[in-house]
Amino acid sequence: MALCRYQLLKPSHNSAIAVSLLPRYPSSLRRSPRRRLPRFQRRRLLCTASLDRQLIVRYRHRLSSDILHFHLSYLMSHLFLRDQQGLSSEDTSSSITGDLLDYLNESWTQFHATAEAKRQLIAAGFQLLNENDDWNLQPGGRYFFTRNMSSLIAFAVGDKCLCWHWEITHYHYRTMKLIKVLWNTPLYSVGSGFHVVAAHTDSPCLKLKPRTACLKSGYQMVNVQTYGAGLWHTWFDRDLSVAGRVILKSGDGCFIHRLVKVKRPILRVPTLAIHLDRSVNTDGFKPNLESHLVPLLATKFEESHAKSEEKPLQPGSSKGAHHSLLLEVLSEELDCKVNEILSIELNVCDTQPSCLGGGKNEFIFSGRLDNLASSYCSLKALVDSCKSPFDLADQTAIRMVALFDNEEVGSNSVHGAGAPTMFQAMRRIVNCLASDNSGECAFELSADMAHGVHPNFSDKYEEHHRPELQKGLVIKHNANQRYATSAVTAFLLKELANIHKIPVQEFVVRNDMGCGSTIGPILASGVGIRTVDCGIPQLSMHRLHYQTFFP
Ligand SMILES: [Zn+2]
Repeated sequence: MALCRYQLLKPSHNSAIAVSLLPRYPSSLRRSPRRRLPRFQRRRLLCTASLDRQLIVRYRHRLSSDILHFHLSYLMSHLFLRDQQGLSSEDTSSSITGDLLDYLNESWTQFHATAEAKRQLIAAGFQLLNENDDWNLQPGGRYFFTRNMSSLIAFAVGDKCLCWHWEITHYHYRTMKLIKVLWNTPLYSVGSGFHVVAAHTDSPCLKLKPRTACLKSGYQMVNVQTYGAGLWHTWFDRDLSVAGRVILKSGDGCFIHRLVKVKRPILRVPTLAIHLDRSVNTDGFKPNLESHLVPLLATKFEESHAKSEEKPLQPGSSKGAHHSLLLEVLSEELDCKVNEILSIELNVCDTQPSCLGGGKNEFIFSGRLDNLASSYCSLKALVDSCKSPFDLADQTAIRMVALFDNEEVGSNSVHGAGAPTMFQAMRRIVNCLASDNSGECAFELSADMAHGVHPNFSDKYEEHHRPELQKGLVIKHNANQRYATSAVTAFLLKELANIHKIPVQEFVVRNDMGCGSTIGPILASGVGIRTVDCGIPQLSMHRLHYQTFFP
């Protein structure tokens, strides 16, 4: 029987956890498995040798109201065919779509995406932690922290992730009868595990250089650098603006940073008229990224006019590095004085709002779908999977969402997936809950957008692995470990999807083409976590404006 979307979005809350991956056996065995062991312990160790088989067998008994299930559901809510839906499911789905569009429109930059995620988590009762403080975590608690205002880790601790541990303190030597058993305080039950969904907050874009002021042929231009592997020709002739983070000097002499978003179009990168470039349609448009991709802010007249009104500079002011006009626009938006702006970290952004489109309103047209669609689904999955206090009552695992910055440039930064942020968070969580923190087990969905087959370039796709927009969640494979999916993790995901009647499809790149990558392999190798790379198929990836399917 096919499940309708309403059922997918609201699974029964009394079902158990999706995937609990490791059998519980003494941590000492994991440390030195070759040691001569008592027979019963050897038997347990042998069990672990068939871990994968156990894992596959055991998960069948643990259907999910867990974050993994919710995440799959939300991802899939964008992929189901219209004729499979009931009225109520459509209502639920359209509210999710509306929320997703709001999230996309709010999140112009990685900073805004993180701030919006923070707002949603606080509204849902999650407690903000400081990485510099001691953490006092409790079973049933929901927490999160951010790093650099652009990456975020949120987690919910299952009520039953603690169990009572006991040890024999006195026994009779000959008869081996117990004399005294000491019950210890409750400890984190090693083997309960982490269920993680990871995504990223950044997208390819243009970023302002430290010194942006530039004059060309009587125009005020703004110096930018390219970030990530964008399709840069799509940035020409668009209504652009700026958004990001600004460091300000506050009245008491302290420094504060605030987010800023200028909603009106203030920048444009004009193309050259065809009369001056006759071969553009035959030879292709090949802009020089240093000299041709510089956005135009205003005419020079505005600059000289602004200069006449300049006030004395304060030490540390960023004036001079930037056009006065740009700083005035920012100060208006921030409601502060120009000379209070000390530093800026801004992206060039598209002002066109995200919307539904297509003849049947079946597509989402939006910038930054890669990977804010996955970030939104992850957050919603976490919030909704522990909405009521009872949702965590029977849970033994810790549910986690990790949103990283800098995926588009390889993740090697202090706030990217290459940093040990997630691993450190897991360590700290286990340290708070347990004395033995070895061998915690985990399963991760690395959620990032996937390449849907392009109708005009279908020969660019491997013949038997061409994901289609309406045919389901895409599991990504690569033998060279550009994706972290293994046969076992792919199987687990497919079986989970099968149980919930969720269609999946598989993607493999052609052998004569290079393969993209994402945070999955970085987290899998850095944290040692079983991972499956998956995502929603889309068109126009890494373009200024993307497109994906929505029923
Ligand atoms: Zn991505």
